[in-house]
Amino acid sequence: MTDLSVRADNGVDQHRLLVTELPGPRSRELMARKVAAVAAGVGTTMPVFAARAGGGVVVDVDGNHLIDLGSGIAVTTVGSSAPRVVEAVQRQVAAFTHTCFMVTPYDGYVAVAEALNRLTPGDHEKRTALFNSGAEAVENAVKIARVATGRDAVVVFDHAYHGRTNLTMAMTAKSMPYKHGFGPFAPEVYRAPVSYPFRDHKELDGQLAAARAIEIIEKQVGAANLAAVVIEPIQGEGGFIEPAPGFLPALVEWCRSNGVVFVADEVQTGFARTGDMFACDHEGVVPDLIVTAKGIAGGLPLSAVTGRVELMDAPHVGGLGGTYGGNPLACAAALAAIETIEADGLIERARQVERLMKDRLQRLQADDDRIGDVRGRGAMLAVELVVSGTTNPDPDLTKTLATKAHQAGVIVLTCGTHGNVLRFLPPLAIGDDLLHEALDVLAEILASTR
Ligand SMILES: *Cc1c(COP(=O)(O)O)cnc(C)c1O
Repeated sequence: MTDLSVRADNGVDQHRLLVTELPGPRSRELMARKVAAVAAGVGTTMPVFAARAGGGVVVDVDGNHLIDLGSGIAVTTVGSSAPRVVEAVQRQVAAFTHTCFMVTPYDGYVAVAEALNRLTPGDHEKRTALFNSGAEAVENAVKIARVATGRDAVVVFDHAYHGRTNLTMAMTAKSMPYKHGFGPFAPEVYRAPVSYPFRDHKELDGQLAAARAIEIIEKQVGAANLAAVVIEPIQGEGGFIEPAPGFLPALVEWCRSNGVVFVADEVQTGFARTGDMFACDHEGVVPDLIVTAKGIAGGLPLSAVTGRVELMDAPHVGGLGGTYGGNPLACAAALAAIETIEADGLIERARQVERLMKDRLQRLQADDDRIGDVRGRGAMLAVELVVSGTTNPDPDLTKTLATKAHQAGVIVLTCGTHGNVLRFLPPLAIGDDLLHEALDVLAEILASTR
């Protein structure tokens, strides 16, 4: 038993293995119970229930071994049972589970704040506050920007995803399924055009795309009313859209000269995922506030806002917090996840994953004009699928490919405003052979749908 907690693969055989059809009988039984007990609005990507996971494999309740190219939506970057995380949480759960940091604080929270202040872009003096979910942290970044600037307006972008709470629904672009029927939404949220190289005119480089966004912001919102610009440096749910070089630096510069707080939502892109510790590092972008969650704590719920001391200290005492924010188990997990990223060289590992996967995806693209674009960085990669010979989105093909991959035992996710992006987010604990096998499966499925 004890050995299981110190192995990166968690004792899980690192092979794809199908012992039943998918879903198997136990999963089908559990799905019937889910339908009878869980609200219908909570959907699932695959009708398969997990029993155990480690390395690059999720084992289901019927004993099928699935290749994990999803990481529970970019969460288990260090693996779903990373040894340091397992040990740290076991140690902490035996010491105490909760005291509430706002009642009797504990050192894990402070240590996570110190680590985030050290690791996030920029060497200015920083402070951090911890929360539970990405959406909650985004909301707090807006609170902080508003109180620090005395302004109300928030600018977000086309294709943005920032969460499912009321304010973050207003900030999220896509109606179905995130917003449909759930309004009215929070006011003072404005949307600007983003840089989307695959779909923009070829002349629209990063500078011009930023100028286009800034013009709309100045004309329709007015810099003097604007508290914050909030942007994902690579858009996640919106389609893994990587802006043209120069877009983010130009936006930051405009924010600086207009007293607007530049907020990077790195909930999906953070913690080695993109081949840098943070996606902003790629172009040397230094956000005023950075929002993190997902990959921060190896699967435990934790999120953070980190930023300039003068902004972070603007809210009055008692103005920030929450019962569970910075829970001790989540903090122990975060420290262990960060140690794993640094000690195991996972930033370099993400770059290796990019080289291996991009090379193969680009070769698939060369033979198949339904792959309109191959993009992303590190272990955050995607293909955008289009109708052959056009750039028209093909969500039906995307759905077909995802379903066939699932049936073949490969966990993949879709995304994109048009639902035509197949995205890959493998844990960095996955081996090259599993990545190759998953790409073999994808190649076969592409061939079978021609
Ligand atoms: C997932 C996500 C969120 C919301 O995080 P939750 O933990 O689901 O609330 C916010 N922003 C981005 C970029 C995300 O990918």
